[in-house]
Amino acid sequence: MTDFSGITAVVTGGAQGIGRAIADRLAADSADVIVGDLRDPGDLGDRQRWVELDVTSEVSTVAFAAEVDDSLGVVVNNAGIMFEASITDQTVEQWDMAMAVNLRGPWLMTKALLPQLQAGGGGSVVNVGSIEGIGSNPQHTAYAASKGGVHGLTAAMAVDLGPMGIRCNAVAPGWIDTALNREYIDRLPNRDQAVAELAVLHPVGHIGDPADVASTVAFLASTDARFVSGQVVVVDGARTTMLSLPPSLAPKT
Ligand code: NDP
Repeated sequence: MTDFSGITAVVTGGAQGIGRAIADRLAADSADVIVGDLRDPGDLGDRQRWVELDVTSEVSTVAFAAEVDDSLGVVVNNAGIMFEASITDQTVEQWDMAMAVNLRGPWLMTKALLPQLQAGGGGSVVNVGSIEGIGSNPQHTAYAASKGGVHGLTAAMAVDLGPMGIRCNAVAPGWIDTALNREYIDRLPNRDQAVAELAVLHPVGHIGDPADVASTVAFLASTDARFVSGQVVVVDGARTTMLSLPPSLAPKT
């Protein structure tokens, strides 16, 4: 277990999914967690409270920051959106929204919370990127570009904020079992086949759980990682490490 006693942690998009798991993990490790999200999840656990937040808006991020005191030591920029659209069908509004939530959001939040991080003697920022900041699924131009941007932002923030005692890293999750992905699989005609095919893509034999991302975030946020900054840690069960072969060349098991 990592120990965040006496430390406040902010988790954006913490109402559900990966953000919820991160908030739960940090609170279990004794952090006081402020969940920033568009809506009140209503059922947060001990040591957690919700403050309304729209990460796309500077007014909202500044108002949110006013609720955070100098015990702040961890900022997790997790809120994100994803949609599928071909380049032809995709609208400028969709593109701008992906960039506003996924890329401007982490930058705005870090900027708004810098005074508290500095006043508290430094801290750790963890951005939630994606393996789609490294490769891309079809019809994900905006999503993949925004996540590649998050990885670049992580490097730049590590360089600029390091002298202030602030480390900055990113996690790049692969396929994680959240409501978003479950809904996608559940609407397929052969759900079980899709689940089996997904498992084959992962050398570890299964897709990830939100808690797998949360434990990696907890490590990066903790003093155990005090010399780790500017890194993108892939959490994908080796999916992106395994090179693909055509079925005729794949070893028979
Ligand atoms: P979810 O859609 O389950 O959760 C995202 C949360 O962010 C929701 O609570 C959502 O609120 C909130 N949110 C959206 N827009 C804003 C905003 N403008 N301001 C504040 N909060 C906002 O997603 P996941 O948990 O699956 O994903 C979390 C992060 O992990 C994202 O950055 C995603 O890109 C990344 N990721 C996820 C992967 C996966 O397989 N699930 C893989 C790789 C990366 P609401 O529901 O009200 O819109």
